[in-house]
Amino acid sequence: MTAEPVFVASTIPTGPSTLPVMPDDQQAGLDPYMAQIVTNRKSGLSLNHIIGCPLDCGYCVRHFWGNFEQKTPQLLVPTGEAVAMLVGHEAFRPHATPIQLFNKATDPMLPGVKPHTFAVLNELDRRGMTNLVLIITRFHITEQDMAALEALQHVRVSLLFTYSGIADARVEPIAKSRTTLKSIETAAAHRDRTKVILYWRPIVPGWNDDPATMAGVLDVADAAGLDALVFTGYYHKQENAAFLRAAGVEVPYGEDYQRRKMLPAELDAKVVQAWRDSGTAVPLFRKTSCGIAYAHQVPDYNGHWGVPELCDICPAAQRRRCAADHRSPTEDEFRQALADLDYAADTPFLIEDGHVLTHALGEQRRYALQHRLRHQIWEVDHPHVHAAHGRALQGYELSREEHRRLSQARERLAEHARFDDD
Ligand code: SF4
Repeated sequence: MTAEPVFVASTIPTGPSTLPVMPDDQQAGLDPYMAQIVTNRKSGLSLNHIIGCPLDCGYCVRHFWGNFEQKTPQLLVPTGEAVAMLVGHEAFRPHATPIQLFNKATDPMLPGVKPHTFAVLNELDRRGMTNLVLIITRFHITEQDMAALEALQHVRVSLLFTYSGIADARVEPIAKSRTTLKSIETAAAHRDRTKVILYWRPIVPGWNDDPATMAGVLDVADAAGLDALVFTGYYHKQENAAFLRAAGVEVPYGEDYQRRKMLPAELDAKVVQAWRDSGTAVPLFRKTSCGIAYAHQVPDYNGHWGVPELCDICPAAQRRRCAADHRSPTEDEFRQALADLDYAADTPFLIEDGHVLTHALGEQRRYALQHRLRHQIWEVDHPHVHAAHGRALQGYELSREEHRRLSQARERLAEHARFDDD
């Protein structure tokens, strides 16, 4: 399906914001990933035309791209232009593609950023888009903000509050205040069509995995009667580990740096047990898209039903929804999706049980295909291990059978590529 026509940027009000525009020479020096305004990420097509954040979370992903020292949010392009880039993106489909706002390099509820967050939401809504929209924050949400969110008629918004009970201000300076807790209470009390989710992350051994801290987080979700809890670990990479260690924080996992988030099996089990022991009625999810999908009563748009060991904690009604929706694409459908997205027609792929294996497509293209097909799309060189749930493999091991299957799959993908070359 083609994207809707680009609209006139100047029709989008951006409120009273006085955010500076980043000078061209500074933009030219940005890491290429930071400079990308629209990116495909696992939880949705992500709009990030404002970068910079003063919240100073020690584990911030901006460490990886050399942007952590930029404390003042700056615009890369005007908001109208950014929205045009979003709806004109090859992966954007009205009413279908999940969207995320400002989840890479700033907080969407910072005072200077907030008018832009609402400007984007209002414009998508004005155009009648019913896409799911994720807003991840740990900052202030007021009753007025909730009234503005509730006034939207089409876009389906989820507010995810990052809160994990971390009390160490060296790790998370905002932990000194009750800001996030107050926002959760306000959002929960003034919501109807807006869904409110506690984003329990990062969970890190020694930081916040003791029984009292875990029970405290679960109490917050329970007392507010939130729509869902989603838990995950943290990115253990050299850059943020070095920052935290220099601040005197004990960082686990040694020098075993990984591209995926860390959440070893025993920590997963501990979280699930704490949730069960709490007796809360707020459902718990391992994947962000699962929490969003449940909150809006739709099947998971990442097709995690194809990884059944993820679903043991999911409510029965949601499992039925995902099961009814889940189906492997045919080879023709997969090729059609590649063509629709303008991806190489000779991309090797192998349709397996619950997922499609590919090679050398790149993470962003795999996510776009995944959202389009509501099916797991994997890279053969980044193996998924049973029960690791797509996380870093520390604490998990590939079985002999998994090794055997992967090497067979590599051979078949190579055959496929050779065949397509002919
Ligand atoms: S049934 Fe499985 S895939 Fe669907 S939302 Fe629940 S955990 Fe996710």
